[in-house]
Amino acid sequence: QLSVKTNCNTKPVAGYGNGAEQARDGGKTAKEMIGRALQERIQAVDPHSCEAGEEDAFFVADMGEVYRQHMRWKKHLSRVTPHYAVKCNPDPVVLRLLAALGAGFDCASKAEIEQVLKMGVDPSRIIYAQPCKTKSYLRYTAKQNVKQMTFDNTDELYKVKEIAPDAELYLRILTDDSASLCRLSQKFGASMDNVHELLTLAKSLDLNVAGVAFHVGSGASDPTAFLQAVSDARIVFDQAAVLGYTLHTLDVGGGFVSETFEEMAAVLSGALDKYFAPQIRIIAEPGRYYTSSAFTLACNVIARRTVEDRETGTKSYMLYLNDGVYGNFSSIMFDHQHPIPQVLSSAHRSDGFNYLPSNASTECLTDSGYTSAEESISSSSTNSLDSTSPHGNSTSSNPRSIEYSIWGPTCDGIDCIAEKWASPETVDVGDWLYFEDMGAYTKCSATRFNGFTDKHECVYVCSEGGASALLGF
Ligand code: PLP
Repeated sequence: QLSVKTNCNTKPVAGYGNGAEQARDGGKTAKEMIGRALQERIQAVDPHSCEAGEEDAFFVADMGEVYRQHMRWKKHLSRVTPHYAVKCNPDPVVLRLLAALGAGFDCASKAEIEQVLKMGVDPSRIIYAQPCKTKSYLRYTAKQNVKQMTFDNTDELYKVKEIAPDAELYLRILTDDSASLCRLSQKFGASMDNVHELLTLAKSLDLNVAGVAFHVGSGASDPTAFLQAVSDARIVFDQAAVLGYTLHTLDVGGGFVSETFEEMAAVLSGALDKYFAPQIRIIAEPGRYYTSSAFTLACNVIARRTVEDRETGTKSYMLYLNDGVYGNFSSIMFDHQHPIPQVLSSAHRSDGFNYLPSNASTECLTDSGYTSAEESISSSSTNSLDSTSPHGNSTSSNPRSIEYSIWGPTCDGIDCIAEKWASPETVDVGDWLYFEDMGAYTKCSATRFNGFTDKHECVYVCSEGGASALLGF
């Protein structure tokens, strides 16, 4: 019997059949499981008597989705060993699953390295992928025998020489990241003009340069960035050989997104095969690819303000949720995301709880105007929680009948989740909204601003038998 676990050491909240059954049913079963977990969790809250914080926002995380992403990776990038970028979402169950699946880990701080080592992962499976390291962290790293690390400047080489002279160094080179969501190259990466100087200094310091690393930017959209970076890496391998180094590893970084993964993987694989012989070890540092679609966030509507336009006589509403940009919606500020609200439960519905049917639209204003949840979701690998729910629905047929703006709980005016959201449904205080694709760069950058929690409960479900077996769910 498969059960749902929470991260609060509470008892499992439900049993959902066996793993094999779930694998057979695929995505549909996954959506049903997520829906049931959401429903059970919100039904456990009595809005009239609950303790402070019991109605806090919470996640439902499907470890089956992480597992499926890993299988997809192995199918399309069989040559590349993923080192999951812990920064993206250091969820302990995600890390445990990926460790069990044989992935490595990209860590950028002492805390991340410590978290991974505590799971029993061998230090050789960790890369300290931070070209500008804190000295005390480097001392810790050396003591723990974590040897693989990146560098991109001369000062760092002197630091490594002093503290971790046995390190296995990867020279991080600059990439063209102009087509990515979060650009990294203005901060990190040696230009090709500096490579010779860096390798020469490393040689004179008797340091062990073992490979090359790059990152094409987080949320990359142009596969040719991979092509150029791999061909630049080849040049570095050749330059290093002239200086007497035999490089053995290429680290192709992160930047993969689910929607374009196959296309990126095809371009990358082609470039790797063209420029690097099979004996060269290839690793990567994917983050959002693994976790983005696995996490759904549910938020409670804590307040509502009616806004009347006296000229037109129309009414719209400001909704205040118990999570915002200082919390899990930090992805709006830091990761340029536009999370799409959907109604999870509404007292105005006949049954109180439901998902929107897949043909209902709910729209959200982004930089470029309204975005429909349906459009944005149908273009991704994840389908909106759909009408396969056992419960009926009572949504109106007019998709723009009610206009809302959605705000977080803090006193800051910048704490806005959506400036405009058109929903066919009436949403009021005590109702719940949900947001899919909330697993990347969300809770890891949440703060405690205004005293709101940064520790949101996570209910784990598992829609793949293989993952259930590894996790003991
Ligand atoms: N590796 C490094 C060095 C990074 O800085 C990042 C993200 O900032 C990642 C990997 C993960 O990138 P992504 O989540 O786009 O795969």
